Amino acid sequence: MTATYLFYLIIGILIINFLIDKIINAINAKHFQDALPREINDVYDQTEYEKSQRYKKTNYRFSLVVSSISFIGLLLFFFFDGFAIVDGIARGFSNNEIIIALIFFGMLVFASDLISTPFSYYHTFVIEERFGFNKTTKATFLFDKLKGWLLMLIVGGGILALIIWFYQLTTDYFWIYTWLFVTVFSLFMNMFYARLVVPIFNKQTPLEDGELKAAISEYARKVGFKLKNIFVIDGSKRSTKANAYFSGFGREKRITLYDTLINDLETDEIVAVLAHEVGHYKRKHIIYNMIISTLLTGLTFYILSLFISSPLLSEALGVRIPSFHIGLVAFGILYSPISEITGIVMNYISRMFEYQADDYAKETYQPEPLITSLKKLSKNSLSNLTPHPSYVFMNYSHPTLLQRVRNLKNEQ
Ligand SMILES: [Zn+2]
Repeated sequence: MTATYLFYLIIGILIINFLIDKIINAINAKHFQDALPREINDVYDQTEYEKSQRYKKTNYRFSLVVSSISFIGLLLFFFFDGFAIVDGIARGFSNNEIIIALIFFGMLVFASDLISTPFSYYHTFVIEERFGFNKTTKATFLFDKLKGWLLMLIVGGGILALIIWFYQLTTDYFWIYTWLFVTVFSLFMNMFYARLVVPIFNKQTPLEDGELKAAISEYARKVGFKLKNIFVIDGSKRSTKANAYFSGFGREKRITLYDTLINDLETDEIVAVLAHEVGHYKRKHIIYNMIISTLLTGLTFYILSLFISSPLLSEALGVRIPSFHIGLVAFGILYSPISEITGIVMNYISRMFEYQADDYAKETYQPEPLITSLKKLSKNSLSNLTPHPSYVFMNYSHPTLLQRVRNLKNEQ
């Protein structure tokens, strides 16, 4: 294996990844106008349906333009030795490998974020605005960016520095220490995400006493689910789109409802959504997900440890001084076909879990309010109701609305 061969292997992987993604997106777009199946033809009225068609097409064209531009930019970066240039600049600041790596990734991440900012600005303030979703002010947009950068600097920089330090200390066994550290860190984040990270971006308030809380408490008591933490989050600060999610475990477990969800849905519909979330917990999906992702992380770090010491990785990217950070970039791309596949498997498992959570809600509560809530949520986010199966297979973490309605009505 020569460095030139490896370089073209990396370029080949980038091109194939890009093409597969574009082809599946194009197939999916071809089915935007498909006739709606009977079970879900009551989601939109004619005007809303036409609006959803325009929304799908606009988003499709927008993502095609953005991904093509960034793909061409990436190829240019590879062919004009971008990594060698950035590595050279980083080495001008320090002789310490950890500091060099931090400056190297810092420059790459910051630059690519700056380039993508006009596009995300356009998406939020032109596209989402035009379709009536946007509630974000320009100040919120700016502060989200700044807070995101700060978090990235502290958390991302801290983790990267630690991993390289492990590598310098233990070389061959660094993957075990890194794996242990990442596992403990993600357990910690899973547990305290709602306490530590969410408040940086949103306000969370305990659900007020009233009809909704009484209905939820009654349901929780019935299924023996100890729930003291139900929070309402101010999602309406950014978008009209609604959501609900489960996080943490043990004493820290909580259910978070978007204020938009509470506005859009009736009480029994919200209880049904909550029953679905409780289903994820009762069916141990949180634990399974953690086990699977821990094993996958271990495998990835192990494979990384087999290749990271090879100077060939750095050579392939045209960088003369071999280093951990350049090796990491090359490895990341070489590994992407594998992570593509594990991503598809994870999506498959996630869709299976969604069915199980729906079944749980159906068995312990009622199917009907869950069906109407799913339809309302689809309508209010102008969802694509006719995604192509290949697109669902690759990208969907949830079954389609049609599949979920059929499953809830026992029609599958
Ligand atoms: Zn779910």
